Amino acid sequence: MKKIGLYIHIPFCNGKCPYCDFYSVKNSSEKMDEYIFYLNQRLMSNHGKFIADTVYFGGGTPGLLGTERIVTVLKSVWKSFGKQSRETTIEINPESAKKLDFEMLKYFGIDRVSMGLQSADENELKKLGRKHNAEEVSKAVDQIRKSGINNISLDLMLGISGQSFRTLENSINFCSALDVTHISAYILKIEQGTPYYNMKETLDLPDEDTVCDFYEYTADKLENLGYKQYEISNFSKPGFESRHNLKYWRCEEYLGIGSSAHSFIDKKRFFYDRSFENFYHDIKTADGCGGDEEEYIAMVLRLNEGLDFHKFKEYFGYDFPEKYVKNAEKLKSTKLIVIDGNGIKLTRKGFLCSNSIIVNILK
Ligand code: SF4
Repeated sequence: MKKIGLYIHIPFCNGKCPYCDFYSVKNSSEKMDEYIFYLNQRLMSNHGKFIADTVYFGGGTPGLLGTERIVTVLKSVWKSFGKQSRETTIEINPESAKKLDFEMLKYFGIDRVSMGLQSADENELKKLGRKHNAEEVSKAVDQIRKSGINNISLDLMLGISGQSFRTLENSINFCSALDVTHISAYILKIEQGTPYYNMKETLDLPDEDTVCDFYEYTADKLENLGYKQYEISNFSKPGFESRHNLKYWRCEEYLGIGSSAHSFIDKKRFFYDRSFENFYHDIKTADGCGGDEEEYIAMVLRLNEGLDFHKFKEYFGYDFPEKYVKNAEKLKSTKLIVIDGNGIKLTRKGFLCSNSIIVNILK
């Protein structure tokens, strides 16, 4: 049976952060119970079609569901997709950790927790509209570890209003002192349709050059602290790379269940739109693109391992097209990419302008 990554979207949050573009609504017990009913139904309707070798609960804030609801979903997952997951992650917010029974979650298969720290600086957290503080994150990490779950990831944000090298260094040191296994360091993007977008002139954000410097500083510092970069925004202790997220970047197959969840199966992309209605009625939308050379190149070049010509041939059944090699050769002198007989990789500086490099390779 085909092995896939299983993504489960939980679209509930305890209020909306002003920069966030993910699909989520305010949580309530009634809405969450209803959603879990349909989620279990959708999971069971896929019974026996796939084996999930990674499972990821993303959101929203999946931790808000509480232990009991999460366990019912895990039971449906194991019944329908087998018990062979090599990594089962749940995203939580620090403030929802207190209410969760991690020992119980571990017993039912959760072995990785991803938490949104964003910053260890109180002022920066306030500006982001976050409700937690660094101390709560520290306590949550302790609580998770006591349950025996040791694979813990923290999110950091770069480019926050008022951020400086000093506050950034403190946030990085904070993560390292907690000795977590994985750190995602994202550059804040102001997305259309968010409150931040309408306020962008008044936000006093660091300029683009400063944010690029923050990025390089973060990557260097994390590597010095033992976190190896394996993707544009992701760093881990050896062996703790996110197996589930690697599937996205390596264009492997995954099934997304839940409102706004995307899937990639049999080289076809499809998704549930941003509504409860269509998810409850199992109405999926086909996504025209997917599984082609362009997408593959754009995805694998996000990874430190880069594009391997041999793997490209295994994936598509033919050699990596010469036209792309020629385009890549032209960029060699920029020191933004490295190209040799085995493949193409972006350098760290290259990661900062990955989109334009990829456009140039695909020209
Ligand atoms: S908690 Fe996370 S998903 Fe929810 S609004 Fe904030 S950033 Fe978005």
